[in-house]
Amino acid sequence: MKEHTQCSAKFIFAIASTFILILLQLNYIEPSYSEEQSTTTNKGPEKSADFEDVGTEDLEQVAEAAAVAPNLDLKEVAPLPEPVVIPSKEEQETEAAEKATIEEETDAPVEAEKEKLTKTVKEAEHAVRKKLVILGAEVPASTSTRLAWSPQVTISGLALPTPVLVINGANSGPIVCLTSAIHGDELNGIEVVRRVMYDIKPEKLTGALIGVPIVNLQGFQRGSRYLSDRRDLNRYFPGEPNGSLASRIAYSLFTEIISHCNYLIDLHTGSFRRNNLAQIRANMSNPNIVKLVEGFDKIAVVHHSGNPGMLRTAANEAGIVTVTMELGESLRIQENQIIAGTYAVNSLLGNLKMYPRMFLWGDPKPAYYESVWLRVESGGILFSEMGLGDNVTKGDILGIVTDPITNQSTELKSPVEGNIIGMAVNQVVIPGFAAYHIGIESTQESMVSTDDQELEPMDVSADGELIDPE
Ligand SMILES: [Zn+2]
Repeated sequence: MKEHTQCSAKFIFAIASTFILILLQLNYIEPSYSEEQSTTTNKGPEKSADFEDVGTEDLEQVAEAAAVAPNLDLKEVAPLPEPVVIPSKEEQETEAAEKATIEEETDAPVEAEKEKLTKTVKEAEHAVRKKLVILGAEVPASTSTRLAWSPQVTISGLALPTPVLVINGANSGPIVCLTSAIHGDELNGIEVVRRVMYDIKPEKLTGALIGVPIVNLQGFQRGSRYLSDRRDLNRYFPGEPNGSLASRIAYSLFTEIISHCNYLIDLHTGSFRRNNLAQIRANMSNPNIVKLVEGFDKIAVVHHSGNPGMLRTAANEAGIVTVTMELGESLRIQENQIIAGTYAVNSLLGNLKMYPRMFLWGDPKPAYYESVWLRVESGGILFSEMGLGDNVTKGDILGIVTDPITNQSTELKSPVEGNIIGMAVNQVVIPGFAAYHIGIESTQESMVSTDDQELEPMDVSADGELIDPE
C-alpha cells in the first residue's frame, strides 16, 4: 500500500513537472530576475544621453525630434533599410537652441511633470520606458528594427547603405553591440550576428542589442579582407573625419554606432589561411574587460592588449568594454565555429541578465590560455597531423613539411603541452612561417603577468608584424 502511494506521488510529481515545463515553453511563466540584479551585474559605462528612462508622454515629444523606426519582426523578411538623413551640425545646433528656449519657457511645468513621472515610475517599475536614438531614428522600447548606416565615402549615387539591426528591450539595461566582417572576407561572425539577433524577443530583453553584420561591405562584395583602397579598416580606429578613406569610414562607424555601446564584441576569423579555435582576445589587465570575459561560457580566452588602430583598442580607450571573438577561418562558413560563437554570445547575454532562457546558464567557464607559436624551419608543403582543439604533449608531431623537390620531410613537434588554438591550413610554407598557435592552460592572473616575459607575445613576431591579426 505504502509503495503504491509513493508510486502515485512520483507519478503526480512527474505530470506536474511536465506541465510547468510546457507553460515555460509557452512563455506563460516568465523566468524572473529583478531590475536590481541587473543593475548590480552590469557595470558598463553609463550612456545616459542615448539611453535613458523617459515616461510615455516624453516619448511622444522625442518622437517629434527623431523619426520613430518601424517595429519590424527581425524574423520576417523585410525590404533593405534606407539611411535616415542626419541633419548637419549647424542644423542640429539651431534645433538645440530652439529647443532650449522652449524648455526655458516651460521649465516649471516640466519639473512638476518630472516629479509626477518619477512617482509613477516608482509605483510601477514595468511602466518605465526607454528610448534609444541611433542613426537619426528613435527605436522605442520593446521593438526591433533595421536601420542603415552610410559612411558617405563613395559616389553618393552609388552609396550602398550598411544594414544595422537594433533591438531595444523592454527594461533598462546595457547596450551590447556586435560588429562583424570589418574584414570583408571573414564570414562566420556574420552568421553569428544573425542567429543571435533573430532569436531575441524585444519584449523579453533587458537593455539593447545593436548588430552590424557586415561592416566592410566593400570588402565583403569582393571577397577581400581590405577596403577598396587596399587598406585594413581595423588599423584606423577611432578614425578621423578628414583622413583617408579607411580613416573616414572608421570615424563614421565609431561616432554613429560604436559610441552608443556599453559593451562591444567584434567578430573576426583567422587570417591568411589560418584557422582559429573559437576564442576571445581580451586585454585582461583591464578589470572591466575581465568582468565581461567572465560572462562567456565554454570559450578559450587569450590575453592580448590590442594594437593601435584596432576597433577593440580604440573602443576600450573610449570606455566601451570591448573584446574580439575569433571564429575559424576566412572565406568559409563553418557550422561548428558559428555554433560555438553563438553559444558564447548567448551565454554572455544570459549572464549579464539581459535575456532569460529556458535553461539556467550556471557559472560560466571560460578557459584561460597563455600561448606560443610554432614556426616552420624548412620550406615545403605543410600537412597537419593534428586538428584544431587537439590536446598535445611536448614532442607530439603536429605536422610534416615536405620539400616537393628534394623529397626531404621535416617534422613539426610541439614545444609544450597544451591545446591547438590556431593553425595554418595545409599549404606551401616558407621558413619562419607561424604554423601552430598552442594554448597553455593558465589562470587569469598568470596570463597577464607572463605577457611579454618568457613566452613570445601572443601574435606579434619579433619585427612587430602581426602573425594572426585581428
Ligand atoms: Zn579580422
